[in-house]
Amino acid sequence: MSLAFSRPLHLEIAPLLLERSRTVFIDGEWLSGKGSTPIQAIDPSTSMAFARFAPASLEQVAAAAEAASKAFLSWRRSSGIERGRFLRSFASGLRDRKPDLVNLQMLNNGKPRIEAEIDIDDAAGTFDYYAELAETLDDERSKPVILGHDGFDGATYFEPIGPVGLIVAWNFPLVTTAWKLAPALAAGCTAVLKPSEFTSLAELVYGDIAAEIGLPAGVLNIIPGAGDIGAALCANQRLRKISFTGSNATGAQVMAAAAKRTIPVALELGGKSPIIILEDADISQAVEIAAAGIFYNCGQMCSATSRLLVSSKIADRFTDALVAKTKAIVVGGHDMPEAQMGPLTTEAQFTKVKTTFETARSTDLHCLTGGEVREARGGFFVEPTVYRDVPVEHPIWREEIFGPVLAINEFGSTEEAILMSNDTEFGLAATVVGSDPDEANAVAEQLDAGHVWVNCPQIIFPNTAWGGFKASGIGRELGPWGLDAYRAVKHLTRAT
Ligand code: NDP
Repeated sequence: MSLAFSRPLHLEIAPLLLERSRTVFIDGEWLSGKGSTPIQAIDPSTSMAFARFAPASLEQVAAAAEAASKAFLSWRRSSGIERGRFLRSFASGLRDRKPDLVNLQMLNNGKPRIEAEIDIDDAAGTFDYYAELAETLDDERSKPVILGHDGFDGATYFEPIGPVGLIVAWNFPLVTTAWKLAPALAAGCTAVLKPSEFTSLAELVYGDIAAEIGLPAGVLNIIPGAGDIGAALCANQRLRKISFTGSNATGAQVMAAAAKRTIPVALELGGKSPIIILEDADISQAVEIAAAGIFYNCGQMCSATSRLLVSSKIADRFTDALVAKTKAIVVGGHDMPEAQMGPLTTEAQFTKVKTTFETARSTDLHCLTGGEVREARGGFFVEPTVYRDVPVEHPIWREEIFGPVLAINEFGSTEEAILMSNDTEFGLAATVVGSDPDEANAVAEQLDAGHVWVNCPQIIFPNTAWGGFKASGIGRELGPWGLDAYRAVKHLTRAT
């Protein structure tokens, strides 16, 4: 089925969309989707569909896994240098398409231009980073092990784990996909990628690049579809690991499906991350960091620092400044170049945030600013919102909202701030702001979180680790840990 456009596009994304009639990429070929229920690409600034296409069928999931399995036999034997060359070409392919991809992300995700641009740079940077790591692998394929017994020696090998299934969400298309795809290919794995049904179009570009750079057939396969396609991928016997980014509820289903076959999973799940503003914090710096930590990407970040703990000594001054900053945020869609915060990406998120606002009202939460949806605009727009003195048992303090909704509480002592920060089922990320770097660092060291920012916004470098403690997930992405997630350790014991 071809893409069908229901209204003129405001943005010039024709090269990515208008010429695309096939949306399933298997064994190096673009195919028509054989799935029955069409997927609609929605513009969240208007809530209108701008494209429609057929997803993969269950048979195509099986064919994609078969292709990945077949391609693994030779891809695993390719050199790291060769794989690095392909990864660098992926990075260039993304950069070459940057203007179109930026427009597409603005249209399909509701991202402001600057955020869409950062996404493409981050995705390309991830491919460059893993290209560099891949290029070191030929010299590091095995390591000698001294066994300490005459007549024996040993060696440890690092083997690609096999064909893998990669399931991604919609909040950072291309980026979180790069975090999985680049290390998987670098390690020598082949992949079947299931994009989110909400943002498949951007992810299809990886198939375009694969075809353009001559990536061997079957090394990357892309099967757009909804949850049933993801479930079929998890159940497929050919795949040896599933790496998933998304909600805890679906992550549990992925883990259960993997458990049936006793294969490993990597899960990048939710968060309710704290930000601690210490007594000596520079107020304007703290405001900038706190606002970015909850309003970037309209708060749709697994790492969003949605629980703010501020020293009672500066709570009023800080809160006043944060509220002023929040009120000044320009909310708007891709028709407003001055917009600093776009709409939520999906209708489901819009409903979730709207329900959150209703809960806040019905429980008399102290709302300092925001707390309303902006339905009159016609898209999925909500106000950047700040609540103060939120009871620590309240769902807005405890549950992931995935929207621009900040809950504030005060603390009396640093010990109390640390205890309150760690009092959550999650443990993905955290931020500490304070003028004494040693103290801020000491606080950071006591937080149960996979990634802590000290006096800086949520910048993620590709050579750092990404992943959570507790219910925030299993495993780590990025850095050498991201590569190891796609490698199995094999030991040889040899008679000499
Ligand atoms: P999901 O966890 O449902 O979706 C993530 C991916 O899993 C999508 O590709 C989805 O397909 C796929 N999927 C759905 N069901 C299954 C299944 N049974 N087996 C395998 N894959 C499946 O997230 P949502 O998009 O529904 O978002 C819901 C909430 O999740 C958000 O409100 C937020 O709290 C959290 N979230 C967390 C993210 C993170 O970065 N950790 C990212 C996005 C959301 P499909 O798109 O068709 O549903």
